[in-house]
Amino acid sequence: MLVATRSVGKLRELLPLFAAEGVEVETLDDAGLAASVEEDTLEAYETFEANALAKARWFHAQSGGRLVVADDSGLMVDALGGAPGVRSKRWSNRADLDGVALDHANNAHLQSMLTRAEAVGQSDRSARYVCAAAAVWSGGECVVRGTTEGAITRVASGDGGFGYDPYFVSDVLGLSFAMATRDAKSAISHRGRAFAALVAMLRDRGVLHSSGGMPGDG
Ligand code: IMP
Repeated sequence: MLVATRSVGKLRELLPLFAAEGVEVETLDDAGLAASVEEDTLEAYETFEANALAKARWFHAQSGGRLVVADDSGLMVDALGGAPGVRSKRWSNRADLDGVALDHANNAHLQSMLTRAEAVGQSDRSARYVCAAAAVWSGGECVVRGTTEGAITRVASGDGGFGYDPYFVSDVLGLSFAMATRDAKSAISHRGRAFAALVAMLRDRGVLHSSGGMPGDG
């Protein structure tokens, strides 16, 4: 199974999760699929599900018809009417930044949007992470959603995780996702929940065997 993401943060969470499920996976680098400009145009839709499917379909085609899984995820904040949603990755509009620098810019933008919202009486800092996980194989495709609830703090805490994690305090853990261990985050995170459901669905449909191989792989 090919895991179609270029995000180091996501891979750090997903690889142990698949290992725990007994599913053998390859990354895009393992499969020799170099990054292309077209990839950046795939997430053009207004739902997480449509974007995840678009990514999985693209890499299914690029890989010559392999079983591919992909996700699209983001943060939805109540005081901001569900923003940034599908625009979470590039919310700060800093096309010149990537990685940790982009995360910093996005988090600064989040705080300034929440300050503005508060000034007009929108002070509900409750939020959720959402992840749509999609699979595409030669016989079909499916997509599932996972969510996890929390709230956005004014100050950062912790140095783990990625993205908005230092400001997202999980309702279940009572800690920011950047303070949680990787296992604790994965057990209840939007991504952990979505991919656990996706693997179960692929096994149910006979697309994945318990060993992780495709039917007929031997
Ligand atoms: P995409 O799924 O690659 O489009 O990116 C989703 C964006 O949402 C990331 O770049 C982060 O900004 C944010 N995001 C999604 N999941 C997480 C998470 O688990 N922690 C922190 N930020 C996340």
